[in-house]
Amino acid sequence: MKTVTVLGSTGSIGTQSLEVARKHGFKVKALAAHSNTRLLSEQVWEFGAEYACIFDAALADDLRERLSGTGVQILTGMEGLNTIAALDGVDIMLNSVVGMVGLEPTLTAIEHGTDIALANKETLVAGGELVIKAAADRGVKIYPVDSEHSAIFQCLQGNKSSQIRRILLTASGGPFFGRTKAQLEGVTVEQALAHPNWSMGKKITIDSATLMNKGLEFIEAMWLFGLRPEQIEIVVHRESVVHSAVEYNDCSIIAQLGVPDMKIPIQYALLYPERLECPTRPLSLTDYGSLTFAKPDLETFDCLTACIKAITIGGTMPAMVNGANEEAVAAFLAGEIHFLDIGRIVSSVLDEFEPGQLTCLADVLDADKKAREYAKKQIEILNKQKGN
Ligand code: NDP
Ligand code: MG
Repeated sequence: MKTVTVLGSTGSIGTQSLEVARKHGFKVKALAAHSNTRLLSEQVWEFGAEYACIFDAALADDLRERLSGTGVQILTGMEGLNTIAALDGVDIMLNSVVGMVGLEPTLTAIEHGTDIALANKETLVAGGELVIKAAADRGVKIYPVDSEHSAIFQCLQGNKSSQIRRILLTASGGPFFGRTKAQLEGVTVEQALAHPNWSMGKKITIDSATLMNKGLEFIEAMWLFGLRPEQIEIVVHRESVVHSAVEYNDCSIIAQLGVPDMKIPIQYALLYPERLECPTRPLSLTDYGSLTFAKPDLETFDCLTACIKAITIGGTMPAMVNGANEEAVAAFLAGEIHFLDIGRIVSSVLDEFEPGQLTCLADVLDADKKAREYAKKQIEILNKQKGN
């Protein structure tokens, strides 16, 4: 029986990871959420967690009330996340919070020697250099949860990563595949949230519509698998059945397939190397009949282009592009800016800033802060133009 902790347990990945935990009878030692005290308390009652962290400290009393009689220790804020990340007796910590806020607890878990199942991709985009180096120094394993990266990780089993020629990183193309910029002018929040294949949290769903998600995954893949940018080809695959593939030096390509259900990569990360029954359904290729593959439109989806440029420049540039995107997505969801403004803001970061050196957490946090301040100013201007 595994002992796990889940940061972001009330979200899309978090709740699915608890389905996996339920199926296999894992011991869940600690859970954390931002503000959803109702669901968090239900989870604590069900799994008998010993620690529960609610990031928003103003909700601590509410959580305490809901959990009175459980004996659970209530934590709050970044300190609470770090306390969970440094608990003894944990086999694996699943980090499925959304955004850069996940970086510090990831580094804390590594320092503590706890293996990590990582869904929180912003962590690797902003601070990949630090995370990968710290994990290697400490001998900590980072198991990818993102479906594409899990696919690549699965295709690497029994092979040598030094013999990879390139990676085929598949992308669904999101709800706006095939559209031109002009056709994206008046896109609404509702349209952008209607992902064709995956049901996910709002931030990643918008990232999928702008293809920022694929840009973040491009960077994530470079750090996880030690690749150069030219070794990654993005392939639009509308059906989301081939979750990614690895081409080796001998021109053989190995792919991983399955229905689009995150419980498969979540379970693989939590149970590696075991392949036990998963609470999902099997894939029927004949039901699909055909699978399609196309090149991405880098001109329309400028967030993707910005990410590739940012990681090619290196240093703190990916952290800045990520920070600006987090602000821009929040502003789009709040109705403050247009859909295409997200790409405009993210791309302009590349012209606005010089990349700084990235040697410690403070460098990442500083770059993130500067990019957010800049993005907020742009949002203010665009919001006024929008007539709000
Ligand atoms: P959701 O928005 O559904 O969930 C986010 C979770 O993080 C919630 O539990 C939320 O709590 C919690 N959270 C947010 N901020 C904090 C904080 N400061 N402290 C503690 N908890 C916090 O997101 P997803 O599950 O969709 O995505 C999570 C991560 O996984 C993202 O990085 C995403 O890119 C990545 N990912 C997601 C996939 C998916 O299919 N959903 C696929 C691949 C990667 P609360 O509910 O209280 O707000
Ligand atoms: Mg993905």
